[in-house]
Amino acid sequence: MNFPWLEAVESEFRVRFEQGRLPHALLLSGPRGTGKTLLAESFTAGILCLEGGYPACGHCRSCQLLDTGAHPDRQLITFEEHPRTGELRKEIVVDQVRRLIASLNLTNTISHRKAALIHPAEAMNKNSANALLKTLEEPPGDTILVLVSHDVARLPATIRSRCQNLYIRPPGPSTVLDWLGSEHGFDPAESKAAMQAAAGSPLVARDLINNGTTDQYRLLLDTLDDLGSGRMSSGAAMAALGDIEPDSLWSWISLFTADRIKAGGQPHETALQLSILQSAADKNRKLMATPVRKDFLLQDWLIQWARLRA
Ligand SMILES: [Zn+2]
Repeated sequence: MNFPWLEAVESEFRVRFEQGRLPHALLLSGPRGTGKTLLAESFTAGILCLEGGYPACGHCRSCQLLDTGAHPDRQLITFEEHPRTGELRKEIVVDQVRRLIASLNLTNTISHRKAALIHPAEAMNKNSANALLKTLEEPPGDTILVLVSHDVARLPATIRSRCQNLYIRPPGPSTVLDWLGSEHGFDPAESKAAMQAAAGSPLVARDLINNGTTDQYRLLLDTLDDLGSGRMSSGAAMAALGDIEPDSLWSWISLFTADRIKAGGQPHETALQLSILQSAADKNRKLMATPVRKDFLLQDWLIQWARLRA
């Protein structure tokens, strides 16, 4: 793992680990796409490693079992498929927490301790969170629970107060650009576009470049520019944007309008119109999960945009 923005939190963990001062429950919080889950996995590997150091050795029996995903002393609680519909659930249900607690009560078989990883912790519903409280306070045996949260405000205060919170500060733009260049060899102009499209998240920016989506983001910016200055019709703009995945499209449009508002310099009325357009983009993004005519929404938005700039 080479994420410079995680180094401070990781070294804090290492020191506590080496001094035997790890709390029962750790909460890794911070914005999405910063590597929290990978860090949590690295922590649990260290907690379980038979060599007893951090980071984990990578070759003992515990480390090998973790690689295969079948370590009996490590529990992972995340979204599960619904047993009847086969669809991935959108919350962590109480049954999962009950199974976790039951397994933590069994004797450990490989490692000297047990570890549990819960992510995203804010996906626990009220019943799940309540069921976990006692275990968080006093886990059975030598157990360490690691919770990961992208949105710590959505976690009940009763959960937060029982964990040691390690907050991951989002890296600044220059850190992200340096990392995309030095670690991945990406071109600076492309890195910059990807970082904008990813709203500053380093791992999302990396994935956008890797799967070739940055070009789509640039296409969106060019299209909105051409439409706004009258060089393109809204019909042509519709056609140009047709291949962009709707969820990305609306979050980029929202980011784009937010950037315009932030840049300032426009008359009050235009700023107001821009915020209306941004709210519309956010609303449309949520509507994408519903059976709505997606092309109508886009057409309407593009016409409003063209009007604003006319
Ligand atoms: Zn090991």
